[in-house]
Amino acid sequence: MQATSVERPVEHTSARLLDGRGLALQVRARVAAEVAEHIAHGGKVPGLAVVLVGADPASQVYVQHKITACEEAGIRSFSHRLCAQTSEAELLALLDRLNADPQVHGILVQLPLPAQINVQRVLARIQPGKDVDGFHPENLGRLAAGFPALRPCTPKGCMRLLGSAQIDCRGKLAVVIGASTIVGRPMALELLHAEATVVVAHKNTRDLPNLVRQADILVVATGVPGLVKGEWIKPGAVVLDVGINRLADGTLTGDVCFAEARTRASWITPVPGGVGPMTIACLLENTLEAAQNGCFAAV
Ligand code: NAD
Repeated sequence: MQATSVERPVEHTSARLLDGRGLALQVRARVAAEVAEHIAHGGKVPGLAVVLVGADPASQVYVQHKITACEEAGIRSFSHRLCAQTSEAELLALLDRLNADPQVHGILVQLPLPAQINVQRVLARIQPGKDVDGFHPENLGRLAAGFPALRPCTPKGCMRLLGSAQIDCRGKLAVVIGASTIVGRPMALELLHAEATVVVAHKNTRDLPNLVRQADILVVATGVPGLVKGEWIKPGAVVLDVGINRLADGTLTGDVCFAEARTRASWITPVPGGVGPMTIACLLENTLEAAQNGCFAAV
């Protein structure tokens, strides 16, 4: 007798959420406790200087979140708001003063900067030990070479999220879409340190869907809303969506089509509430590290 083929029921899966909001609260509580301990042992109150040039609305919101987070953790913040016409020389002079100020342990220049200012010259002017964003070439070089360093906050936060779900990167194929100096490149280095096999894609990458289909771990940081379609996701993949895009109706959305992707992935970050809160938590952690001045102690 011939066996009749039985149709398998369609599996209805839903990825688990990588809860950045919850994890960030834990990190921030730990940083607050460590700040208090640092001060109790005679350390100075950690200080973070936040520099904003111009009045970009999104930047103003980010800066305010960072300042509030500092206050809650017992970190003193020094806010420097400069007008959009500020010259590069004026900004560099401010950075020189902040580099020399013993009350300032961390310096953050909110990006983007107005067109008349060269970003690379600005980032390179921050003293590496105060570079809590981890964008100074020395810190990026240290990250590449595996030396202790102040590490860029967003990739660091992504690694924490993976760790919180005990996701082992070893041997996995990790695809990072986006190759910026602040997210994509350092993210690729972090994943390489975690022994993933890493591919970095960017706007000139050919056949992105086919590449994504092979990814066990996918990190997307392009600023293109909904770039990655759900059907591109390999079943069971881990998806970290770094993108933060404000749509015309005011809602925030990521670079991944979340609802579709969630039916295929095993873990996924929501937007908002995924990577974003971890970026701020890691900034606080870096500021404490800079105040403790332990980040370069090992070499
Ligand atoms: P960026 O503009 O500097 O870099 C974008 C990268 O994406 C580039 O490498 C570019 O080649 C690539 N890209 C652009 N279009 C592409 C396409 N169609 N296909 C493939 N690659 C493409 O941006 P960024 O500063 O790295 O930020 C990226 C996104 O991440 C933005 O939405 C930003 O708001 C967000 N972001 C979020 C956080 C956070 O804390 N969650 C932090 C930083 C940036």
